[in-house]
Amino acid sequence: MTWFEKLAIVVFMVLFMECFAWAAHRYVMHGWGWGWHKSHHEDHDGWFEKNDLYAIVFAIVPIVLFVVGLWWEPLWWAALGITVYGGIYAFVHDMLVHQRGGFRWVPKQGYFKRLLQAHRLHHAVEGKDGTVSHGFLFARKPSVLKAQLRANADPQRRAVRPDKAGNLVSADAKK
Ligand SMILES: [Zn+2]
Ligand SMILES: [Zn+2]
Repeated sequence: MTWFEKLAIVVFMVLFMECFAWAAHRYVMHGWGWGWHKSHHEDHDGWFEKNDLYAIVFAIVPIVLFVVGLWWEPLWWAALGITVYGGIYAFVHDMLVHQRGGFRWVPKQGYFKRLLQAHRLHHAVEGKDGTVSHGFLFARKPSVLKAQLRANADPQRRAVRPDKAGNLVSADAKK
């Protein structure tokens, strides 16, 4: 394999993992997997959270790929891409946003400030539902997220959806 092919696989996997992480966070962790993720949305003592079990489970995949990749090289580079994403995630999410390991840096501007604000807004809602910003490396503007939060918190706006004819109908009215 050329170095370009290796780099392309790594970059592709980092981007793919952001999509995967978004979907897993949105639909699994805030869905049927809430039992583990709940610990991450609550105050707690101690260093570990039940939510860390996700990191362990997700780590199995690149470990297997590294081993299989000894026979088929592209898989080894794919595993490296996943690992790079895991490293970025640990830095941005665990260290930068949640200040684990005593890391204290509050970016005042730019991309990292935006990531920090976006994930803090994810934690603005205590429970499983109505949360915003489930991705990590692609974050929307804080103003957009705040508007989403307001819409989510307003049951009236949530229950009212336009029907096929474009009329606004209450979700309750259909039942
Ligand atoms: Zn969450
Ligand atoms: Zn978090």
